[in-house]
Amino acid sequence: MYMNVKEEYQRVYARIDLDALRSNMEHMKENLSPKTRILGVIKTDAYGHGAIPVARELEPLEYLYGFATATAEEAFILRQKGIRKPILILGYTFPYSYERLISEEIRICVFREDTLVQLSKAVSDLSGKGILKKAKVHIKVDTGMNRIGVSADIKGLAFVEKAFQTDGIEVEGIFTHFARADETDKKAAERQLKEFQDFLALIKERTGREIPIKHCSNSAGIVEMPEANMDVVRAGITLYGLWPSEQVRKDIVPLTPVLSLYSHIVYIKEIEKGASVSYGGTFTAEHKMRIATIPVGYGDGYPRGLSNKGQVLVHGKKAPVIGRVCMDQFMIDVSKIPKAVQGDKVTLIGQDGEERITMEELGELSGRFNYEFACGLGKRVPRVYTKGGQILWTNDETADF
Ligand SMILES: *Cc1c(COP(=O)(O)O)cnc(C)c1O
Repeated sequence: MYMNVKEEYQRVYARIDLDALRSNMEHMKENLSPKTRILGVIKTDAYGHGAIPVARELEPLEYLYGFATATAEEAFILRQKGIRKPILILGYTFPYSYERLISEEIRICVFREDTLVQLSKAVSDLSGKGILKKAKVHIKVDTGMNRIGVSADIKGLAFVEKAFQTDGIEVEGIFTHFARADETDKKAAERQLKEFQDFLALIKERTGREIPIKHCSNSAGIVEMPEANMDVVRAGITLYGLWPSEQVRKDIVPLTPVLSLYSHIVYIKEIEKGASVSYGGTFTAEHKMRIATIPVGYGDGYPRGLSNKGQVLVHGKKAPVIGRVCMDQFMIDVSKIPKAVQGDKVTLIGQDGEERITMEELGELSGRFNYEFACGLGKRVPRVYTKGGQILWTNDETADF
């Protein structure tokens, strides 16, 4: 739904629908086993949606275990803004951050032996300063992604044992990550799941201990692999109402896109047959045309790859992008939309009347994919947060949240 916004947002704004965010969470929860809790993945500023308002909206949900980020800094900002639930960092963190991570009880992902030693030292250094905290860690297990993680075998077991025995370390969780759960054929993902389960059984058998929080599912797993529900699942893209891939079934968990993107026409003119449009003259008019200028460009994260390919909605009709997308502006053909005038609303992503433009579609057209499109939406695009049809807040520098 388009909202009338203040003039300063008319150039471009992303509407973030917090009701849709909640409903996506609830529908995912309905598809999980009752004891499974959700970890909200809000790395890269919540896939471009804004980590702070997203975290604030979700934190009160009782079935939300906590949040995941990719970096220490993303986690520190959440703590600074008052987020109290557990935060897990999904990737490697560098030693400079350990004391602060430990004192703020941010969960650290471990898979390197040197990290265990460094964490133990950080814990003892902190205790020298009167801060008595353990390093809470989640062990990362590699079952097929070949990115980070210990192997799910005797060598990996030795790492787990070392983590158990290292002073100052509390092994709170253990997890693995699917490489191909978003494909129709689940064989590869099932193999990873089995490898992880076998490894968990091996740990229990050899050490007699069970790690409290075990997790493996990402969004695709949440939708299509109920057998992979464990203590926690990690919800990323589906939180935002977007699909992990075209192959994931859309009839199991109903999702609503959280973000829509709007602008307004700033200029309309007629051009003659033979005139070219934008840099490089990649579009030439084959007849007299009416073209409109949209004040948005790749500087806002509207990809240059959409040159001569993208579409927008004006008065509920599709209008094609013509010529190259510039840094701050692009042109569309409104020859078939005579009603279009300067100042009219333009929907870049979202619904207008019967028509809809999705992030999946634009991601695909621009040679990216939806995740990348969302993450690339620029800082220059104001985010306007709505709830119950009302504007709740915006990410103005001056706004306090
Ligand atoms: C990014 C990430 C996720 C979330 O993935 P989605 O496909 O967006 O659900 C989960 N786990 C790990 C380890 C990740 O890096």
